[in-house]
Amino acid sequence: MASNGRALAVQPGRIRVIKEGGRGRGEVGPVVYWMFRDQRLRDNWALTHAVDQANLRGVPVAVAFNLFDRFLGARARQLGFMLRGLRQLSLEVEERLKIPFFLFQGEAEETIPKFLKECGASLLVTDFTPLRPIRKCKEEIYKKVDDSLTIHEVDAHNVVPLWVASEKLEYSAKTLRGKINKLLPEYLIEFPALQPPTRKWDPTSNSIGWDGIISDVLRKGAEVPEISWCEPGEDAALEVLMGNENGFLKKRIRSYSTDRNNPLKPKALSGISPYLHFGQISAQRCALEAQSIRKQYPQAVDAFLEELIVRRELADNYCYYQPHYDLLKGAWEWARKTLMDHANDKREHTYTKEQLEKAQTADPLWNASQLEMVHHGKMHGFMRMYWAKKILEWTRGPEEALEFAIYLNDKYEIDGRDPNGYAGCMWSICGVHDQGWRERPVFGKIRYMNYAGCKRKFDVDGYISYVKRLVGELKKRKAESTMSDRTTEKKPRD
Ligand SMILES: Cc1cc2nc3c(=O)[nH]c(=O)nc-3n(C[C@H](O)[C@H](O)[C@H](O)COP(=O)(O)OP(=O)(O)OC[C@H]3O[C@@H](n4cnc5c(N)ncnc54)[C@H](O)[C@@H]3O)c2cc1C
Repeated sequence: MASNGRALAVQPGRIRVIKEGGRGRGEVGPVVYWMFRDQRLRDNWALTHAVDQANLRGVPVAVAFNLFDRFLGARARQLGFMLRGLRQLSLEVEERLKIPFFLFQGEAEETIPKFLKECGASLLVTDFTPLRPIRKCKEEIYKKVDDSLTIHEVDAHNVVPLWVASEKLEYSAKTLRGKINKLLPEYLIEFPALQPPTRKWDPTSNSIGWDGIISDVLRKGAEVPEISWCEPGEDAALEVLMGNENGFLKKRIRSYSTDRNNPLKPKALSGISPYLHFGQISAQRCALEAQSIRKQYPQAVDAFLEELIVRRELADNYCYYQPHYDLLKGAWEWARKTLMDHANDKREHTYTKEQLEKAQTADPLWNASQLEMVHHGKMHGFMRMYWAKKILEWTRGPEEALEFAIYLNDKYEIDGRDPNGYAGCMWSICGVHDQGWRERPVFGKIRYMNYAGCKRKFDVDGYISYVKRLVGELKKRKAESTMSDRTTEKKPRD
């Protein structure tokens, strides 16, 4: 409840007051939502809070986004997807809500404080991410801004806000699950309708040269090209989740509990991770919609909610409370010890980063999964575990294995550079969130996976052929489009 007795749309637990601004003299300035991880209009607690606060204060509100020069090594694949989604978002936010959308380029430590100063903002709202670089960047911003500015951070990504779910580093899914489940009735609720702002932003000329910006990032990041099977944006995300044609909850979820570990059946998975990563859909929306069909598919829905909520939010918990989330130092003590005890064990093969990147190993199953990631941009979830564990087996020690796995994952996965990716690599290579297993060479007590185990679980040769076909088709399409580009270039002008 606000001080004037008006009900606020966002639960207080979702919001952290980072800084209470000193009261400035004269008119109160506008509210700015600096959007980072939750790049959507619908079901966005941070945007809802920003508009709510603006209306409460009787001031205008704007959305600002900063395009970093290079954020965690993103290439054309990731940046193209993100910017195309943002372009749609900017149009919608301006047309539907009359909220201006500002896009800055460069370092947010410079652009955001400058903008806040120029517009005389009184409140900065940010969304939440546990990742180190952005937390560091936020600290710099907070140091630079005016004393009179208030700063709120809203966890718009997790169903249960991270700091409410747990105040400490959780050991495993088992230790977090109970805490989250207890809080779901309070937090897994329907979103309120987003109210339009009551005060308009003073008109400023703010046209964004999207085409130029997109072609620039595509050119600079061309080494890892865009993918065409996954359309960016909020509408596309909802279509993947619940579209009538092939939506996960409408058509595919029934096989989730039985087929989700079969790499030959990628459609049994939701395919929602790219949208969750870029915040083009809210996990809470996915969970609400899944819950609504639980009566029909109880096992599948429960399995999906376990991954979507517990496992995903466990990854955020890990990255937030463990500052070394991408280093051997971030592993539990037992795992560090066993990995170091076996660091010098003889390996049957060792490969360089370049050999791994080019899928030049003696294992055709591993090579197929690497090629699926490089060309298709999303490796099947089951193969990601095998893929990372083999990197431990084939490199000169756990530190190098972790470095190579994270490098490749972040470079090629459309959903890479995500807490799930760091937690996934740490789980596979360093036993994070897992338990100790029977000791063996190289792996020590870290859980082991091998080719024979995969062969028992699914049709390994079928998967290898499937990836071969997939890559062949992609290469053919690429060659055709290069040919047609050349023909267009050569055509004489009318
Ligand atoms: C080595 C390794 C690397 C990984 N890298 C990434 C990554 O970069 N980005 C990423 O989003 N996920 C990553 N994962 C987790 C998981 O493999 C993917 O989230 C999943 O394959 C995405 O496909 P989907 O959305 O179709 O999955 P679904 O099975 O349909 O799952 C729905 C959602 O649940 C969450 N989820 C599923 N599995 C996990 C898991 N094991 N841990 C945490 N959350 C999970 C994801 O948000 C996912 O989108 C990685 C796992 C491993 C072992």
